[in-house]
Amino acid sequence: MAYLKLKDINKIYPNGFHAVHDFNLEIEKGEFVVFVGPSGCGKSTTLRMIAGLENISKGEFYINDVLANDKGPRDRQVAMVFQSYALYPHLSVYDNLAFGLTLQGVDEDVIEERVYATAKILGLTEYLQRKPRALSGGQRQRVAVGRAIIRKVGIFLMDEPLSNLDAKQRVTMRSEITQIHRETNATTIYVTHDQTEAMTMADRIVVMKEGYIQQVGTPYELYFNPVNMFVAGFIGEPPMNFLRGTVNNGILQIAEDGENVDAQLDLAPILDKELIDQYNGKKMVLGFRPESIVLGEQENCSAIACQVELTELLGDNTNVYVNIGNSRSVLKVDPHDTPAMDSELTFYIPNKSIYLFDSETEDVIPTIK
Ligand code: ATP
Repeated sequence: MAYLKLKDINKIYPNGFHAVHDFNLEIEKGEFVVFVGPSGCGKSTTLRMIAGLENISKGEFYINDVLANDKGPRDRQVAMVFQSYALYPHLSVYDNLAFGLTLQGVDEDVIEERVYATAKILGLTEYLQRKPRALSGGQRQRVAVGRAIIRKVGIFLMDEPLSNLDAKQRVTMRSEITQIHRETNATTIYVTHDQTEAMTMADRIVVMKEGYIQQVGTPYELYFNPVNMFVAGFIGEPPMNFLRGTVNNGILQIAEDGENVDAQLDLAPILDKELIDQYNGKKMVLGFRPESIVLGEQENCSAIACQVELTELLGDNTNVYVNIGNSRSVLKVDPHDTPAMDSELTFYIPNKSIYLFDSETEDVIPTIK
């Protein structure tokens, strides 16, 4: 029995906009699940339906096998952290943390104990008497997280909690939230549009697009076995490169805008014969990750010729932007192998790192791995 169960959940807003379609998901107790996807894909709407802040238009939501559709937010035992922190500006950190417990009528000495324990976990002990305006963004976000964990509820919901922080603070808070989750083991649903947050924090990721779930899986599954071009392009940084082509007698001839490029892929070592025949004369998309390529010729690889346009030294690697016909790809290479700008380059993709997609449905075509 799953702890949380969303069955065929739909959200249709009063203006008729259908924001979430047939959302199905089961979440185990203690799991850290991340909803990720571009702006407007329905992540927050789904989270707010789980919180009880938005009604469910169609479908069933169960907590511990009990139908919860009509339960109010208080009866769902959820704590929510918002992007905006939502702290009380006139109250000290101590009182902000204590607020929810005071409302519940918890004894003063129990509150004091819990406030100090929570402040310790979050490194806020020395700021307890300050008002929120005298805190940095990162410290305010910690108070917001503290207000949620102090209530010791079973379900922890976070909506883009790190988006107001600068890049460095985000990295720090990311690992702190993961650490807090380890300590509290509260079932957590975390919404973000940032694939790095999803990859680094989640037990399982739910990738959404335009109100539909695209794929649910561990970070490893999504990175290595994406089900379609959307997931393949969303997970991974820089994203997967795509080259379009047509299959002709077992060869994928890369062509962009109708113009053939000097790149051909022998499909025999990559695809089952049946599939090669099925796609004969049809369009296909070749996908490869920037980090999967090699520069020296090797066995079981496919060669692609390109023109170097731009190189970006990042320290641990160089991003090399190349033109393959009319399309642009990015390659990740060792900084010592950085090619000259405007030079001709041939790189090699190990066959096991090649992804193929149906050009019409954009679904992955299973390759021989
Ligand atoms: P973001 O990352 O920008 O917050 P999101 O994935 O969380 O995006 P939602 O906020 O869930 O997306 O919104 C999903 C869709 O529903 C969007 O197209 C949005 O414009 C629409 N929407 C949200 N709230 C309402 C509303 N009250 N009435 C009508 N449409 C709404």
